[in-house]
Amino acid sequence: MIREQQGKFVCTNCNFTYSSMLGDDEVPEVCEECEIYYIDDKRIYNYKLIENDDYEPNKECTSCDVEYTCWDCEAEQIRERYPEARYTDHLEWIVPDGTK
Ligand SMILES: [Zn+2]
Ligand SMILES: [Zn+2]
Repeated sequence: MIREQQGKFVCTNCNFTYSSMLGDDEVPEVCEECEIYYIDDKRIYNYKLIENDDYEPNKECTSCDVEYTCWDCEAEQIRERYPEARYTDHLEWIVPDGTK
């Protein structure tokens, strides 16, 4: 949510400060700087996309190919690597901010 603080427009979530030169109608309703993900239509804060997203196809899996890792196997590897990983409504894997 963007609030006006001492003449500036500050996002209460990410603390991004919008220029005070913006007119009231130029300040976005929803912060454009926040990285917000949705799971089950709920907003998820303080998560980021997984950076290391190379996965090995599973040789014993019939859905995997030599080059291709099927979703199930990918999900398994992601959960192993990132126990806190979550899958968003936009089909992306995210992990809590600060996860390496
Ligand atoms: Zn924000
Ligand atoms: Zn597979």
